[in-house]
Amino acid sequence: MSSWWRHIGNIIFSLLSPRREVCLLCKQLTSLERGQLGLCYTCYTRIPWIRKVICLSCGRGEYCPDCRRKPHTYFAKSRSAVRYDETMKELLARYKYRGDERLKVVFGQMLVHAFQQLRLDRATSSARQVREVITYVPVSEQRMQERGFNQAEQMARELGRRVELPVIRLLNRSKHTAKQSFKKRSERIDDLAHVFEFDTTELGKIIEYGEAIIIYIVDDVYTTGSTMNQCAMVLKEEMSIPVEICGLTWAR
Ligand SMILES: [Zn+2]
Ligand SMILES: [Zn+2]
Repeated sequence: MSSWWRHIGNIIFSLLSPRREVCLLCKQLTSLERGQLGLCYTCYTRIPWIRKVICLSCGRGEYCPDCRRKPHTYFAKSRSAVRYDETMKELLARYKYRGDERLKVVFGQMLVHAFQQLRLDRATSSARQVREVITYVPVSEQRMQERGFNQAEQMARELGRRVELPVIRLLNRSKHTAKQSFKKRSERIDDLAHVFEFDTTELGKIIEYGEAIIIYIVDDVYTTGSTMNQCAMVLKEEMSIPVEICGLTWAR
C-alpha cells in the first residue's frame, strides 16, 4: 500500500474511532465523550453539581449557618456551580497551584451552570431587560508574578465568551494578604478591609450604558463570603450609576 493510501486510511480510522485522550483530572487515557469537560466518565460523574439551591443568599445546596449570622451583604446573591469537596479541591489545585492552564476551559464551562442558576431566579422575579457585565476578584501583583495568571479572571473570560457578556476589570487588590486558608474566620474578615480598590481603567466601556446595570463578580471559591462582600462594597460605593451585584463562583 502506498504511503498516501496509508495516510488516508489513518485519517478515516481516526474519524471513526472515539477520541482517546488523557483525562484532565485522573490523567488516565480514556475515550472522551462530548460534554464531559475533558474528563473521563468516572471523574465526570464525581462532579458535585449544586442542582438545588437551599441558601438563597450564597447559593449553597445545603443548610447554611454562615448566611444566618451575616447581617448584611452588598451583593444581592451569589451562585456556585459545585460543592467544594475533595475531588473539586484536587481539580482546583491542579489548575491554580500546579499551573495546568488548559483547565481554564473546564472551569469556564462549569461556571455556566452557576450563571444559569442566577438567570433562572431573575427570570421568575422580573422580566425587565437590564445590561449585564462580568468582572472578577483580582489577585495582588505579587501573586500574579508567582502564578503568572489570575484564575478568577481566566474563568470570567471563559464564561463571558460562552454567555456573550463583556468582561471588564473593575477592581484592584491593593495589598498582599497571606494565604486565607491558614487563618481563622475573624482574622480573614479583618484582613480584607481596604484590600480592594476601584479600578477605573476600563470604566468607560460601561459608563456609556447610562442606566442601571448588573455586575457579576467571578471568583473561584466562595468560602466565608467576605471576599465577595468586600468587592461588592467597593463597586456599590464607587459606581456612579445604580448597580446590582451578584456573585458567581465556581465552588461553594
Ligand atoms: Zn478521570
Ligand atoms: Zn448561605
